[in-house]
Amino acid sequence: MDQMMDIRQEIKQNMEALGIYECGFVNASEISVSPLVRTLCEKNACGAYGKTWACPPGVGTIEECLERLHSKTTAFVFSTRHELEDSYDFEGMTEGKKAHDAMVPGVVAFFKSRVKGPLLVLSTEGCRRCKTCTYPDAPCRFPESLQPSIESYGVEVNVLAQKAGIRYHNGKNTVTYHSAILFDE
Ligand code: SF4
Repeated sequence: MDQMMDIRQEIKQNMEALGIYECGFVNASEISVSPLVRTLCEKNACGAYGKTWACPPGVGTIEECLERLHSKTTAFVFSTRHELEDSYDFEGMTEGKKAHDAMVPGVVAFFKSRVKGPLLVLSTEGCRRCKTCTYPDAPCRFPESLQPSIESYGVEVNVLAQKAGIRYHNGKNTVTYHSAILFDE
C-alpha cells in the first residue's frame, strides 16, 4: 500500500512535467471488456486490424485480454488534451496523437523506476515498430515493448476514463487521447 500511496503522490507532483492532462487510478478488477468494441475493431477504420501482434485478433481473445488486465492490481489511466481548429481538423488530431504517443514513454519510464514487476501498457495504436511485422507467421520481435490500444483489449475508453475520474471529452474543438499502465502494487 505504501508504494501505491507514493505513486499517487508522486504522479500528482510530476503530472505537468510528464505532460499529463488528467489521470486517475482504477482497481484492475473493476475493468470490464465488451465484445462490441472488438466489433468496431473488425470494421478496420484505422487500417490496423489483423496487421500486427498489437491489434486484434493477434492481441488475443477478449477473454485472454481480460485475464491479463485482471492479473494486475491497478490501472493508472491518463490523458492528453489537444486544441483543434475545428471538428474537421484531422491534421490537428494527428499532431495531437503524435504528441500523446511521444509523452507515453516518459510515463512508462516513471512507473518502471518505481514499480516492481512487468507493466502492461495500453496506448493509442497498433504497433509500427518494425518495417515489416512478423504477424501472423512468426512471434513478435519485441513482445515486451508492445503497447496495444486500450480498445484492442475490448475496453471502452469512456467507461475506463469515468472509473478513473477523468474526462473522456474536453470540449468543442479539442481532442483527448488516453493511455493506461497496469501494474502491481
Ligand atoms: S514489434 Fe514488430 S513484430 Fe512485434 S507487433 Fe510490432 S511490428 Fe510486429
